[in-house]
Amino acid sequence: MGDSFSQYDIVIIGAGPSGTLTGIAYKNLNPDLRVAIVDMQTFPRDKSCGDAIGPGVINALKRFGLDDILYDQEPVISTSLSGTGEVEINNYIPEVKNKDDSIVYVIPRKELDHKLLVKALELGVEDFTGYRYLGMESTKEGWSIELSKNEKILRLNSKLIVGADGANSRVRKSLGVKSNDDKDKALAIRAYIDSPNFVSHFNERSLFFEINLSAERGYAWAFPSNRDLVNVGIGIPLNIFKKENLDINSLLEIFIERLRSKGIVVNNVRDARSYVLPFASSLPKFSHNHAALVGDAASMINPMSGEGIFYGMEAGYILAKHTHDKLSSKKLNESIGLYEKEFRKRFSRHYLSCTIARRVLEVPFMTKRLLNVAKYNQHTIDFIIELLFDEAHLTLKELFLLIGKFLLPINLLKIGSKNTSST
Ligand SMILES: Cc1cc2nc3c(=O)[nH]c(=O)nc-3n(C[C@H](O)[C@H](O)[C@H](O)COP(=O)(O)OP(=O)(O)OC[C@H]3O[C@@H](n4cnc5c(N)ncnc54)[C@H](O)[C@@H]3O)c2cc1C
Repeated sequence: MGDSFSQYDIVIIGAGPSGTLTGIAYKNLNPDLRVAIVDMQTFPRDKSCGDAIGPGVINALKRFGLDDILYDQEPVISTSLSGTGEVEINNYIPEVKNKDDSIVYVIPRKELDHKLLVKALELGVEDFTGYRYLGMESTKEGWSIELSKNEKILRLNSKLIVGADGANSRVRKSLGVKSNDDKDKALAIRAYIDSPNFVSHFNERSLFFEINLSAERGYAWAFPSNRDLVNVGIGIPLNIFKKENLDINSLLEIFIERLRSKGIVVNNVRDARSYVLPFASSLPKFSHNHAALVGDAASMINPMSGEGIFYGMEAGYILAKHTHDKLSSKKLNESIGLYEKEFRKRFSRHYLSCTIARRVLEVPFMTKRLLNVAKYNQHTIDFIIELLFDEAHLTLKELFLLIGKFLLPINLLKIGSKNTSST
């Protein structure tokens, strides 16, 4: 066993996208800061994920000139939604209001996270991958952080600790923040397949979502990545999963059979891996004394789509923006508080709208009705896609319009849709 001490301005625990982007943001805003990034795994490493990154992530990468990561990737340009009653809706990803690009990329996390880590290290973030975070003790200037590698203990001193250590965050536990209840979590499984005809089946590179079919109150996806690679998976709210004693592997098999029955060729199913998603339907306190949580460690995942990469990256940037010049100041804690304030102000209504949408989608009858409305009403489908890929939220006007459309007979919506398409 050995001990050593080093003084840092910021120590980030977790080298997923939230952690690396946080490091990149600090180094961009102040290259003189001493920043360390710690991860118990060595990279490249896999992470169970749908691998879809949308307009928000593209924007976050562009902010720091990191979009060369995307140069050799093939974009996805549309979505195909399918639900009970065999409703199918194909739609281009509408122009999202706050972002430049209305496209999505599907990049295996083994590749994306490694590329982001390399970018952070190139900027001078110091590499502690292969080290596990064990705990921390308060010091006069911040924290003494205990790490271990091959049974050796290492201590780093830091003015600020950032917990970016994912859904089962140990930093969150150290800060005394309890994890989400089951109703505010999902369990999801991801696998890879090879499919030579996936893209031609949908006529283009499209994200396929299936709601309430293979899993009655969950959703399944099949997302085309590069060449024949397709990411497939299924996610279910954890409380439903436990109550109904479901088997996530069997649900994935059912979904894969459904893809085959549509005529989609499925070869070489591999790397099935499940993991928990903590939803932002229950955001904990994430600003603390000389400490902050970002990404899954702070339950920042969109409760409707399961998207989490964008919110974690944006959180890292907002944190760095408020604190990069306050690390040696008495105002550090106040600035960490401003991070939480800005994040909540920007995303609370969006998260609430997505929570309401998720509760609706948990009821099969409501899903069927919503998909029928969306099929014949372009505004509704665009709004659903914006909840998935942008920061949209339900306004009172939007709510009344939706309720009205829910109550209208489908035949009237069909007539409305014909009139709109003929004008
Ligand atoms: C099946 C599934 C599908 C998903 N699909 C999508 C999708 O398509 N698009 C999307 O945007 N989001 C998706 N998500 C959510 C997304 O994966 C997460 O929101 C995202 O990974 C959060 O990034 P993060 O950096 O906060 O945490 P993570 O990516 O989980 O990174 C945390 C890191 O911390 C490290 N760590 C943990 N504990 C310790 C410790 N004690 N010491 C040191 N290191 C530690 C881990 O090794 C890990 O590398 C999906 C999630 C699941 C489970």
